Amino acid sequence: FSNQIADAREIALQVFNNFKMIHPEFVFVLDNDLKQATPVKVYRNHLEQVLIILMDNAVKYSKDRLEIHLSVSKNDRYAEIAVQDFGEGIAQKDIDRVFNRFYRVDKARSRDKGGNGLGLSIAKRLIEGYHGQLTLESVVGQGSIFRIFVPLAPAKPTVDSKNKSEISSNGR
Ligand code: ATP
Repeated sequence: FSNQIADAREIALQVFNNFKMIHPEFVFVLDNDLKQATPVKVYRNHLEQVLIILMDNAVKYSKDRLEIHLSVSKNDRYAEIAVQDFGEGIAQKDIDRVFNRFYRVDKARSRDKGGNGLGLSIAKRLIEGYHGQLTLESVVGQGSIFRIFVPLAPAKPTVDSKNKSEISSNGR
């Protein structure tokens, strides 16, 4: 799939807006928006799936402060999509483990929330399959921030920078 190109910003906003419609009890805040297409080297459905897993968790593991923040930014190599919640948070000792298959932080408590502990392991594998990264910062009782980093696709050459001799030899 490495030759696939998708617009990270458009996909992030689409999933964000879908969750906004499905969860009117939550406040959705767009913290940062690039306001321009952000092509990345990822198969569209895979990035969409990862965002759904993260936002679904943000909804499942929030209780008092029902708020989800999205931020879309980039550096010279990666687009970064951050999903932040203000829910129960994850203890330091569990931060790496939550990406393991079938790991759930509190088995008794999470049982009523459904799920098998697979979402995050799938999300991490998908992103790493594209040479990206999925990171987590969290504080118990305060919430979590998951950041997706995916490699930017090279900018499309503009008409001006295309081989001009080819254009002129066509008589245009
Ligand atoms: P599913 O298989 O449906 O995804 P799941 O939510 O249990 O079920 P993961 O998405 O892999 O599985 O998450 C693993 C565990 O990490 C969860 O059981 C939960 O304890 C913890 N977790 C994940 N996201 C959050 C979050 N945003 N806030 C707090 N805890 C979280």
